[in-house]
Amino acid sequence: MGYSNSPLVSFTKLSPNNSGTRTHAIDRITIHCTAYRCSVENLGTLFAKTSTQASANYGIGEDGRVGLYVPESKRSWCSSSKENDQRAVTIECSSDNYAPYAVNDTVYAAMLDLVEDICRRNGKKKLLWLADKEKTVAYQPEPDEMILSVHRWWANKSCPGDFLFSRLAEIAEETTRRLKDECEVTLPVLRLNDKGEFIKTMQILLNKYISAGLTEDGSFGPLTEKQVRRYQKIVGYPQTGIMDAKTWRHLLK
Ligand SMILES: [Zn+2]
Repeated sequence: MGYSNSPLVSFTKLSPNNSGTRTHAIDRITIHCTAYRCSVENLGTLFAKTSTQASANYGIGEDGRVGLYVPESKRSWCSSSKENDQRAVTIECSSDNYAPYAVNDTVYAAMLDLVEDICRRNGKKKLLWLADKEKTVAYQPEPDEMILSVHRWWANKSCPGDFLFSRLAEIAEETTRRLKDECEVTLPVLRLNDKGEFIKTMQILLNKYISAGLTEDGSFGPLTEKQVRRYQKIVGYPQTGIMDAKTWRHLLK
């Protein structure tokens, strides 16, 4: 199947640290902790240096924004296992620089949305956490199954940290629940320069709920983007200016 990248991305800085096109279809997700509090820009700078010898497909900054460093079509250098990274989408999450390497609520929520999106775009209906390296490596996933793996299985480090490690079962369950949610309406992710009926609906709702004062013309211009950011600020979401699934859900509540 063809590869795509997440519409949740709001910052892109492609890293030279990758092995080119994957040799294995995507059927794993590996969530990492950065072990320092950082922004998507910080990660971009780090991964842009060839001397870093490391990268990730995605990174989530302290404010919950999502960065793209290696397109999903390519193998990142992230998990100290080329077999794993050939088939995994890797995600670095901004975390504390001390054990248990906790991530804040905004990063956690953004990570769940990103994991859900990766599963959806890659045709997966279930996310599994088998909690064991041998079982995971031996497991032959069904075409609609995605499996979680962890960096600590291949390197002498605690990544993703005990905070995230202890929540992997919960992450798998929550993602599978979301993927099964048949009532959920699929609304398009909208951003600057998009046009159409969905944008008109969004402008009507923003005018109604936050007195945005927007012209309801179905055109996503800078003023509309500013009001999307304002709405996200009011409801406590990352201020990406992108009308993503989570912001839509809140707006339609
Ligand atoms: Zn790691």
